[in-house]
Amino acid sequence: MRHVVVLLAVLCVCDGLTFGPLCSGNPTNKRRTSDNWGRGEYGARRGSRLHQGLDIVCNDGSVVYAPIDVTLNGKVIVYNDPKKAAINSGINLQGEGLCFKLFYVQPDRTSGTVRKGQRIGVMLPMQEVYPGITSHVHVQMCDRSDPTKYF
Ligand code: ZN
Repeated sequence: MRHVVVLLAVLCVCDGLTFGPLCSGNPTNKRRTSDNWGRGEYGARRGSRLHQGLDIVCNDGSVVYAPIDVTLNGKVIVYNDPKKAAINSGINLQGEGLCFKLFYVQPDRTSGTVRKGQRIGVMLPMQEVYPGITSHVHVQMCDRSDPTKYF
């Protein structure tokens, strides 16, 4: 009986969970829709591949916040391409039963814990690499499932 109760509690943590604001200047987590470089929704076409995350609007240089209480689990290498070095950074996060990554963020720290709404880093200069794009933080679940339901 005890096991059943524990399992239900775990399931309920991420069910109905909503991420708080990710980026200063975007209090409603407005999503990237369409621009000359593509679309921001999960599953959008990227040439022969599909977009495996959700893009949340974030102007270059903006402060990025923890969307839930999280543990910082190290830096993300986003690209191998040296031409994209200016935005080649992100952070691995874990919390509330979720494992996810934020791309294009220069993290303040890469370990420890941060509460929802606290600063975790700065949005990198995406316009330098993709001129005219809607600058954004890319949110990707570790299992590559659709993160849209958390927004
Ligand atoms: Zn993306």
